[in-house]
Amino acid sequence: MTTTLRHHGRTALVTGGSRGIGRGICLRLAREGALVAVHYGHDRAAAERTVKEIETEGGRAFAVHAELGVPGDADTLWAAFDRELAASGAVPGLDVLVNNAGITLPRTVADVTEEEYDRVFAVNTRAPFFIIQRALGRLRDGGSIVSISSGAARIAYPAIVAYTMSKGALDTLTLSLAKELGPRGITVNTVAPGFTETEINPTLQNPQVRQALSAASVFGRLGTPADIADIVSFVASDEARWVTGQWIDATGGVHLGL
Ligand code: NAP
Repeated sequence: MTTTLRHHGRTALVTGGSRGIGRGICLRLAREGALVAVHYGHDRAAAERTVKEIETEGGRAFAVHAELGVPGDADTLWAAFDRELAASGAVPGLDVLVNNAGITLPRTVADVTEEEYDRVFAVNTRAPFFIIQRALGRLRDGGSIVSISSGAARIAYPAIVAYTMSKGALDTLTLSLAKELGPRGITVNTVAPGFTETEINPTLQNPQVRQALSAASVFGRLGTPADIADIVSFVASDEARWVTGQWIDATGGVHLGL
């Protein structure tokens, strides 16, 4: 892994930064100099572990609590962010927003209930929409917004259909935002992981499932949070200032063809 200090002097917020892919993104951004707000919804201990890990490596981070998918979630998140940022002594504002928190819904169309449908959209689509809306006044010009979509949003994937729809909406939001925020030098992109080793998919504990999903990548393995974090860090950096409105495949070549 090569690291630079390309995020030095910048402030980043990663939703769902406590575990999984989000944790990997937090570690990477912090290693590259950012002050990182590690957001979590329920597992405070996991968020504190990630903050501690960053501090042990010499980086700077603080935890931000807000349950997403409930009324007022975006306001709760930004109030907590503003409070913790001020407590850290940093200047107000933000350079990098990573919309990463998400949940899955492993059901075919026949089995999805109205409550489950609303829930997956509330967490995966509605929350990032209003988090971004309320970020606009805080984001500094030249910053970036990266949303974590899914490779499954661009293929037929009946087993998780409502989940893929929720990510498809995020992809469309990215396009409009990229156009609107271009004049401020703010880039807006989505990064789409494939099968990645985290807790979101408990079936990965099953050796047969692991083998099948590993074989789906041309590299013959599951993705790791670090695989995704490296891409997000680049996309969020000034080195990627000429890339916006893009859907970036980070699946390890899962859908290249037969
Ligand atoms: P994960 O290991 O389950 O972690 C999810 C993170 O999101 C945790 O930090 C969790 O914090 C937070 N979160 C979940 N629901 C929340 C809620 N209601 N309110 C606030 N925070 C919430 O998941 P992951 O695999 O790293 O997934 C991260 C992103 O990548 C998701 O958007 C997912 O859709 C996407 N993705 C993952 C894969 C994969 O194979 N892993 C593939 C494609 C896309 P708390 O536990 O504290 O609530």
